[in-house]
Amino acid sequence: MKIADMNWAQLEAYLARDDRVVLPVGSTEQHAGLSLCTDHILAERVSVEAAEPLGVPVYPGLPFGMTPYFMAYPGTVSLTPQTYSGLIRDLLDSLAAHGFRRVLIVNGHGGNTSVKSAIADWCAGKPGVAVKFHNWWNAPATWQAVQATDPVASHASWMENFPWTRLAGVDYPEHQKPMLDTSQLRSMNPHGVREHIGDGNFGGRYRASDRAMLAIWSVAVEETRAMISGGW
Ligand SMILES: [Zn+2]
Repeated sequence: MKIADMNWAQLEAYLARDDRVVLPVGSTEQHAGLSLCTDHILAERVSVEAAEPLGVPVYPGLPFGMTPYFMAYPGTVSLTPQTYSGLIRDLLDSLAAHGFRRVLIVNGHGGNTSVKSAIADWCAGKPGVAVKFHNWWNAPATWQAVQATDPVASHASWMENFPWTRLAGVDYPEHQKPMLDTSQLRSMNPHGVREHIGDGNFGGRYRASDRAMLAIWSVAVEETRAMISGGW
């Protein structure tokens, strides 16, 4: 259930019987022809759908993350590692203060993953609070479903082109872009990155059938739900 659809008294009643919560985190950054908010949209949506039958509350997704390498693309915004880790720590402090003891962070952006060390540091000072960090798109079952559909899949390719991330009026090319070498990306300057990757797709087709995408989506929702349900 979305926090946006609850009031404080309802949340207080929930906390009397459960201590789980979901915090989606994403990024606002170039995604070739897809929405700038792709990572945010997907992390929040997979969280809401996964949590729904469990009745676990889901906070509004954090739309901003760490993505300095895409700064030459208009619309991208990036937080410094200091700001981002401070923000996550402040959010965890607030959640813990209210009695949440099991926090699932559902991440939609690879560049946010380094915040895990700040989370581990926070957890060391808060015995009794468990925080799991779940990269929904490359979790084992979801990644397997992606690879079985088309192994040439990457940032801003078909694998992120869902009915809820593609844009009306935009034509998505039919061809397959050759996979680029992105191993040095995070040490390149933003203009060099833009020159190297062009439209923003790292490699692969630009779209797949809705049937294929919805099948991958249902695997991702199930896998995220299992993270909320168990393994704490
Ligand atoms: Zn993305």
